Amino acid sequence: MRPLVLSPLFASLTSLPGVGPKLEKHYARLLDHEPPRVIDLLFHLPSGTVDRRARPKLNEVQDGQLVTVSVTVDEHRPAPRHRPRAPYRIITSDDSGQTLTLTYFNAREDYLRKLLPEGETRYVSGTVELYDNMLQMVHPDRVVDEQGFANLPLVEPVYPLTEGLAAGNVRRAMEGALTKLPDLPEWQDETWVARERFPAFAAALRHLHRPAEPHDIAPDSLAWTRLAYDELLAGQFALALVRAHMRRQAGRGSASEGRLRARVMKALPYALTHSQQKAVDDIIADLARPQRMLRLLQGDVGSGKTVVALIAAASVIEAGRQAAFMAPTEILARQHLKTIAPLAEAAGIRVAILTGRERGGERENILDRLTLGDIDLLIGTHALFQEDVAFHDLALAIVDEQHRFGVHQRLALAQKGEAVDVLVLTATPIPRTLVLTYFGDMDVSELREKPPGRQPIDTRAIALARIEEVEDAVGRALAAGNRAYWVCPLVEESEKSDLAAAEARFAELRVRFGGKVDLVHGRMKGAEKDAAMARFAAGDTQLLVATTVIEVGVDVPEATIMVIEHAERFGLAQLHQLRGRIGRGPGHSTCLLLYKAPLGDTAKARIAVLRETEDGFRIAEEDLRLRGEGDLLGTRQSGLPGFRLARLELHGKYLGAARDDAALILARDATLATPRGEALRQLLYLFGKDEAIKLIRAG
Ligand code: ADP
Ligand code: MG
Repeated sequence: MRPLVLSPLFASLTSLPGVGPKLEKHYARLLDHEPPRVIDLLFHLPSGTVDRRARPKLNEVQDGQLVTVSVTVDEHRPAPRHRPRAPYRIITSDDSGQTLTLTYFNAREDYLRKLLPEGETRYVSGTVELYDNMLQMVHPDRVVDEQGFANLPLVEPVYPLTEGLAAGNVRRAMEGALTKLPDLPEWQDETWVARERFPAFAAALRHLHRPAEPHDIAPDSLAWTRLAYDELLAGQFALALVRAHMRRQAGRGSASEGRLRARVMKALPYALTHSQQKAVDDIIADLARPQRMLRLLQGDVGSGKTVVALIAAASVIEAGRQAAFMAPTEILARQHLKTIAPLAEAAGIRVAILTGRERGGERENILDRLTLGDIDLLIGTHALFQEDVAFHDLALAIVDEQHRFGVHQRLALAQKGEAVDVLVLTATPIPRTLVLTYFGDMDVSELREKPPGRQPIDTRAIALARIEEVEDAVGRALAAGNRAYWVCPLVEESEKSDLAAAEARFAELRVRFGGKVDLVHGRMKGAEKDAAMARFAAGDTQLLVATTVIEVGVDVPEATIMVIEHAERFGLAQLHQLRGRIGRGPGHSTCLLLYKAPLGDTAKARIAVLRETEDGFRIAEEDLRLRGEGDLLGTRQSGLPGFRLARLELHGKYLGAARDDAALILARDATLATPRGEALRQLLYLFGKDEAIKLIRAG
């Protein structure tokens, strides 16, 4: 149960003055929460300030400056009668001898005469511009008299807005929200708070929304940093709870002599790389231990994670138990099956697949065999953790492309067995800081080298205007028997328009290249998608037009060309993932990044990084530096919550402290029974981590 003291913060925004159902909709968009709550508004921090402390004379004002000036109203100049659409101008001046013209469009004369009576002094705020060498201010933000000015804050926050919400709306609602903010007990370590000179939680929020100095609202200010630390602590603490929960039941230890493993290895047409062997050794040691395994296997695209996972599975299967292998998409699940099936057969491992497509009798048959223990390894999608899926004895859960799954799903799969060991595979090379953030202190194995024989990819950036030349080049490559992907742009995060773009390109390329061209996208039925992938893999088609569904994991070693349209719209990590679809075989590969000129600085930098390196870890670090953590993992698409307040490039250095802090709390007060423990529960609620509260050990 949520502590009562937090209730006002979790109340609907409509509990605030001036927020009705209409504005509520706009707030939902602005705050990215439905329905928007008071706490969401309080976490909406200012992006700047209006500073009214200095009131320059008009002769000191610069072009483009946001100022508050004190002026005398000299003369109203309404639009002439024959040109009613001309602006309404009001001439003002101050004792520096300069004049300032206030310009209004579609103004009502009676209103302006009341607001700015001739001969009176008024305080006017807004952005001044030089127009025909004259100072003018179009639609001042504020016009107040002496008394009104006395009531204005000297430094006023400016908030990011969205359509339908004016600055005044948000300011007023925020004032209301601040009155609902109670002082809360401290959940951070007192000594730490004192050392860092952090304000208390509520004080920090008040400070940010009622700044005394413009710097008070900077992301590296003490107040902001305090809140960022709170968020990091909440995240690390939730992860620590999950981990403790998963580790609580001692693992069973699936010791094996390695006969089955050896048979899988013998069936491989290649030798494991050094780092694959090292990862296998780590995993086998974990599995043999009577403690649960929680291991992240990180490896760049094409580094060969699947086979490591299979060898891990072979170990528990040899001990007479079962393994599950969960992929984020149908395509990937089938691909894993395709890779694994021949190896499994050679080794005598019984494999089956379960996705949304296995239905009715077929599904029942699979579930029966699973329960009886007649299936050793079950590959699938989300369908694996549906309620009626029961294993005979699940020992190992392998989760591919983990960041697309939430913590709940990870837990759900692990709960299908007794003390299930968990192996997470991720192809997005995640920088250290982010591993910590999203996975807590999991053990990590890295595949840093690529399988031998890979050739470097030739990456080039080409302006979209030259698309004809690109099509010609692709045409020549197809004629020579090569295979190519053509990825269509992400259009404003809308799946529909994504699709339209891909379909249009497909239609066009089809006219040119006929039956060699095929299309695959996320809206297609599973079977259609598979069929399209299969045709491409078999070489029946040679040019595959796709939306980003091919981003993750698809493996067709014969594909050597990747065209990415509107590359400037993709994140760096995403481009790297896409490019990773080629360069997998012995053939020379080319990646063409088609961009719309002119490129912004970030897009330019991104493309430069891609051309320079294929090292996913370096690319991930650069991406973090260029864009912040949210975009790196494509959080919007994956549904993974990013941070609301913390900015890893600034506050990431606190992650280690937050993790240690979380571990210490759990070690000392596992049931959160102390006053600080009680306060920590509140912290978890405030940052939406209350799912983790269920995992707190009962007292
Ligand atoms: P990932 O999932 O890490 O992106 P995959 O497991 O799909 O990579 O492997 C990519 C390709 O490399 C597959 O075709 C696989 O058969 C091949 N492969 C894996 N390990 C090796 C190795 N040690 N030597 C040669 N090829 C390998
Ligand atoms: Mg893979």
